[in-house]
Amino acid sequence: MTHKPSPRRGRRRLPPVQTGLSGRCPECGEGQLFKNMLSFNDGCAACGADFRDDDAGDGPAIFVIFAVGIFIIPLALAFHMLLDPPLAVTFIIWSLIIIAASLWLLRLMRGVMFNIAWQRNAREVRLQDFKASEVKTPATQNPTAQDKDADT
Ligand SMILES: [Zn+2]
Repeated sequence: MTHKPSPRRGRRRLPPVQTGLSGRCPECGEGQLFKNMLSFNDGCAACGADFRDDDAGDGPAIFVIFAVGIFIIPLALAFHMLLDPPLAVTFIIWSLIIIAASLWLLRLMRGVMFNIAWQRNAREVRLQDFKASEVKTPATQNPTAQDKDADT
């Protein structure tokens, strides 16, 4: 079974940050990108774009970690140092704030990075991509190795 990239992309140039922040389809800007808080839909209900082969990867989480670590953690420390509440109060309040902010930022960043990757036609490289292409790899140049691949 060979992987067939879905025909798509590059037709309309919608601003990926705008469509990503609003959680809209990168192709038409109308359909919903998310089926729940963080999971992507299988496709766009408005234009039929297929999202199954695409993902935002780990990049959004990295940006969220940086944003929370740089902007929210110092606020929590300042809150505790200035108001001097019991430690449990600081922990409970700021744990809830950090979790809520992380989920909210993660959704925004996943939308933006998905839309940017869609417009750039970027996706994860798979082994099937090389087997289907004309690229000569050591395995395809050596008939013995190719036979072994066919058996497996
Ligand atoms: Zn769409």
